[in-house]
Amino acid sequence: MIRPRDDVALMEGYHSPQLEVSVRLNTNESPEPPPAEWVGELARAVEAVDWHRYPDRAATRLRAAIGALHGVGPEQVFVANGSNEVLQTVLLTYGGPGRTAAVWEPTYALHGHIARLTGTALAEGERAADFSVDLDEVRRVVGDARPSVAFLCSPNNPTGMVDDEATVRATLALVEGVDGLLVVDEAYGQFAPWSALGLVADGVPLVVSRTFSKTWSMAAARLGYLVGPVEVVDELEKVVLPYHLDALKQLAGCLALGHVAEMDARVARLVEERGRLVARLSELPVEVWPSGANFVLFRPATVDGADVWQRLVDRSVLVRNCSSWPRLEGCLRVTIGTPAEDDTFLDALEEILT
Ligand SMILES: *Cc1c(COP(=O)(O)O)cnc(C)c1O
Repeated sequence: MIRPRDDVALMEGYHSPQLEVSVRLNTNESPEPPPAEWVGELARAVEAVDWHRYPDRAATRLRAAIGALHGVGPEQVFVANGSNEVLQTVLLTYGGPGRTAAVWEPTYALHGHIARLTGTALAEGERAADFSVDLDEVRRVVGDARPSVAFLCSPNNPTGMVDDEATVRATLALVEGVDGLLVVDEAYGQFAPWSALGLVADGVPLVVSRTFSKTWSMAAARLGYLVGPVEVVDELEKVVLPYHLDALKQLAGCLALGHVAEMDARVARLVEERGRLVARLSELPVEVWPSGANFVLFRPATVDGADVWQRLVDRSVLVRNCSSWPRLEGCLRVTIGTPAEDDTFLDALEEILT
């Protein structure tokens, strides 16, 4: 039987186990479905699609609507099937054989995974003990590896930590110094107090990626984008497959942008609920990390993390088991759900730990 490329044969796929449980707090989805009006609008839109025609290849309306949201033109917006496809296209364009991507662990596993898939060498630095980005370490990795692409993730998955503006600016200067591109993955950007979107400008090697999956209650739609310099967006458009964004998805995104106030209200509710969940967690024997996202990382102090994970599953509550990930020994990550879901989780956890 034919074998895949050697590096692929050695690779493990990306796994995020899904179990049948009543409370699912493991993949950072929104606990609320999208607005009912949006679902109705989309249903009507299905009938209006010219199904025998290819979709608008340039996704002009959608890019203009996203650009308007962020105060930039459509030519500064690149849209794809989830922000993972955005990241893949960035690495297909600026990574590849003979080039290097840099990450600082612990961070989102897909950055390194997609780098490897695209034949890009990976330079792995470490975050500081509190999981903040350590600029001396950034300087070391960027100086040694001279990466073509460097990834920050703010808020960082799985730690929840937000990189401050000074850190992003300093990292950008270092990456620019080796003619690299800085990607700031802001999949959870709307939950955080500030965004690197304001630093994007023509001539600056910075792109900021976002997704409809988390904040916009649309994980099923698979829609993500980046905002960056026109020169970068033009190159990405050359690399991505033609007509990769189907007509219905383009409409789904445009229609969602008619409900920004409702989406913002959801974010505000989740941020408030995050405060409540963290306050209750802090009363339990667990270590809790500060979060600017819609999830919280914590480490049970009295019972082994993997054991806690299993006992939560036994009570039909699913959280992300990070307990065997490097530097996250014993840690679990819980997505902010509805108040009722969070109470079920907290009551179960309290029962297990006390
Ligand atoms: C969830 C996630 C993504 C990917 O989201 P898509 O569903 O592909 O848009 C990207 N980056 C981070 C950090 C994430 O947590």
